Amino acid sequence: MNRVKELAEKYFDYAVSMRREFHRHPEPSMKEERTCSRIIEELESLGLKPKKAAGTGVVCEIKGTKKVKSSKTAALRADMDALELEEKNEVDYKSENDGLMHGCGHDGHTASLLTAAKILNDLKAEFAGTVKLIFQPGEEIAVGAKTMVKEGVVKDVDAIFGIHIWNDLESGKISVEAGPRMAAVNQFIINIQGEGGHGSMPHQGVDPIMAGAAVVMNLQTIVSREFDPMEPAVLSVDIFNSGSKGNVLPDSSYLEGTTRCFSREINHDFEGIIARVAQETAASYRAEVELEYNKMTLPLINDQEISATAKKAAAEVSGQGSIVKLDKTTGGEDFSFFAAEVPAAFAFVGSRNEAKGADAPHHHPEFNIDEEALKTASGLYAQFALDFLNEGEVE
Ligand SMILES: [Zn+2]
Ligand SMILES: [Zn+2]
Repeated sequence: MNRVKELAEKYFDYAVSMRREFHRHPEPSMKEERTCSRIIEELESLGLKPKKAAGTGVVCEIKGTKKVKSSKTAALRADMDALELEEKNEVDYKSENDGLMHGCGHDGHTASLLTAAKILNDLKAEFAGTVKLIFQPGEEIAVGAKTMVKEGVVKDVDAIFGIHIWNDLESGKISVEAGPRMAAVNQFIINIQGEGGHGSMPHQGVDPIMAGAAVVMNLQTIVSREFDPMEPAVLSVDIFNSGSKGNVLPDSSYLEGTTRCFSREINHDFEGIIARVAQETAASYRAEVELEYNKMTLPLINDQEISATAKKAAAEVSGQGSIVKLDKTTGGEDFSFFAAEVPAAFAFVGSRNEAKGADAPHHHPEFNIDEEALKTASGLYAQFALDFLNEGEVE
């Protein structure tokens, strides 16, 4: 039997107990204090020397002792934060923090990476180079990865591998494909300035609702008329607020929405096109606009070679039959900030199991996972590191 698989089996109870502990104590993004200190305690108990990064994040190296000349560094990343959500599951490890819940599975990621640390620590003699464990805070608000990149956490890294436990995929299945996997997420806010007046005499003012309505309609032509039809993109206006009384012409309106895309080029162009369409549309109604555009995540694009290494690792720990194809998703992941710096692969590890009541979608108050996924995830993390570091080595 594969050594990693054997150890993932041996430490499965540990993975489950850690996941349940984190589940019981969910913490908000960038405030994962308890989670951070528990990660540090667990890593120190293995004789490792973890360090804090990006506030409540943790970075820790495991050095291989195999005698070869190679000195590559493989990073493994898990996110740690919970969601502002009231848990509705009736389990004995239910959230003890009101209004907070591990509703995305990041508790499972942290537990799996700690388990992978145990596995790799046991197998130190079987690799050369360095494994860098990255426990990243603040994924849900897309702050943690960005901050870690700024702090230089991946500066010395040759490849990075991340996992998301995934309820849109059956437990036991793994998807890790090259190319775009998750979308760039951007937020736009458009303030439209008109001039107030009496609803019965609109010609005396500048109607920000009419201008806003036209902006909403014209924004919809961007995806259909300015981008390559072979490149998927989304633009949604999700908030349109204006006015307070039936006979008063308001002086401003407020639009807010999101854009999604998988192409780096479209992601680059989106902001400028929105600015032009909004400004020129509003101008034709004599109104003015102010645009605020916030880049939350980048397109998450898996590197060809690193994905191949990860796919091979997946076959080693879970069998060739476990590997499936999964469509990319318009959801976002701030792992994309690491992937923009370093060759990367991001895998989806199936956790859906209807028979075990693990079939609610992510971010749902009844979200839960088939904990078998922790075995897959911890094994996959460890196997990826071993395979990447041992690739092409000459003894
Ligand atoms: Zn989430
Ligand atoms: Zn997530």
